Amino acid sequence: MSHKLNRKKLKCKIQKMIENNKIKETFNQCPLMSQKEIDMFTDYTKIIIKSGDGGNGAATFRREKYVAAGGPDGGDGGNGGNVYFQVDKDKNTLIDFRYNRKFKAKNGENGSGNHCNGKYGEDLYIKVPIGTVIKDAETRKVVADLSNPNQTELILKGGRGGRGNSHFATSTRQAPRFSEDGEKGEEKEIILELKLLADVGLLGFPNVGKSTFLSVVTDANPKIANYHFTTIVPNLGVVKTKDGNGFVIADIPGIIEGASEGIGLGIQFLRHVERTRLLLHFLDVSGQEGRNPVEDFYAINKELKNYSEKLSTRKQIIVANKIDVMQDENILKEVEKLAKKEGLEFYKISAATKVGVNELIDHVTEILKSLPKEELIELEEKKVYTLEEKKDEWTIRKEDGVFIVSGRAIQRLMGRVNIEDNESMYYLQKCLKNMGIDNKLKEMGVSEGDTVILDDWELEWYE
Ligand code: GDP
Ligand code: MG
Repeated sequence: MSHKLNRKKLKCKIQKMIENNKIKETFNQCPLMSQKEIDMFTDYTKIIIKSGDGGNGAATFRREKYVAAGGPDGGDGGNGGNVYFQVDKDKNTLIDFRYNRKFKAKNGENGSGNHCNGKYGEDLYIKVPIGTVIKDAETRKVVADLSNPNQTELILKGGRGGRGNSHFATSTRQAPRFSEDGEKGEEKEIILELKLLADVGLLGFPNVGKSTFLSVVTDANPKIANYHFTTIVPNLGVVKTKDGNGFVIADIPGIIEGASEGIGLGIQFLRHVERTRLLLHFLDVSGQEGRNPVEDFYAINKELKNYSEKLSTRKQIIVANKIDVMQDENILKEVEKLAKKEGLEFYKISAATKVGVNELIDHVTEILKSLPKEELIELEEKKVYTLEEKKDEWTIRKEDGVFIVSGRAIQRLMGRVNIEDNESMYYLQKCLKNMGIDNKLKEMGVSEGDTVILDDWELEWYE
């Protein structure tokens, strides 16, 4: 037999096609927001995970004094480590995955002589915030939804360790010089999506400086312009705090009056404010735009209340912005009075010159520690997903005179076979026979010299 071709490239191409189609589908379902915009609002990242390879079985023989050649005593390889995802209540964001994108469980160790089995590869536990949804990047299917505080999900199983040669001794073959190779671990690209996550929402009329604030406290890059309705897409930013954690700020596009009745884009975004724990209510105290910040405050709150009674009771902090260009001190005093009257905390800042910004962020960090997390996943999203069953099956199809054997069973088998080794190839043939693949091929008319593709390997058939 000879092997020629690796078919991974083709797989890649197909994968791309699937991805493109899926993106279009989602886009059509959600006319108000493109996929890209949705991605901005859900914290979103792609990573690669790999389970550990199984260790190889050993092909060794017992050596004893006065015994010329003992029996086979090769130990089994250890299983490769599994990859789990686990909810970590202390995490709020996927920021850890921005710089670190490859995660791998440990390989199992090889078996050795004297029936020594290899050690199992250590499992890998990847910690994610509650509300993380894991999707297969290839199919875009949801693999797991980590919505419970103590949830742990097995996502990739490690490869099985190969069996040592002692397993293959029979009455007719007393000295098998081969053993099984360990099964390779699986590698998968997955999408992590953190839904419904903003801890802090920025409230306020257009042009009061919300986007500017977001851009100075986070690494987000929102559009900033001196006209109304600049932000038509919600922006998310992660504030890195001194304790190494972070929290998420959502810049909600200007809520215009009537948003709660579904006018404009507002209503889409109000849904997201609903999940925040704290609202920073921005008021422009510069007097430049001829706004009355006190009236603005009540107008926005009326919108909130119309939309949801619950939302209107969310904790708010009043942020008086643009103090660097104040034209009338009285406006600021009015806002201060308002805060007192409503029993709300009050901060004055200039987002543009950063005056007072650090103090505000420090305070928000403190407050968030004591504020309860909202019930994160909305009911309609609370489906239970399970890993797809991995069935040990195979299929054969004939295309262009070539026989293509595929399926999980053949993948596993080929992963265990050492193609350079004659005995191992002999073992492969035996397995093909036992699995019924051999017979099926003959039924389909395979003959000397035909090409047979077993998983990634292209072999020439001979009797
Ligand atoms: P948003 O609509 O609430 O997101 O407001 P933007 O952040 O887009 O800001 C609107 C305008 O106000 C922009 O021209 C900003 O440069 C300006 N601006 C924002 N914050 C300040 C500030 O603290 N001081 C001054 N002088 N201008 C500001
Ligand atoms: Mg804006």
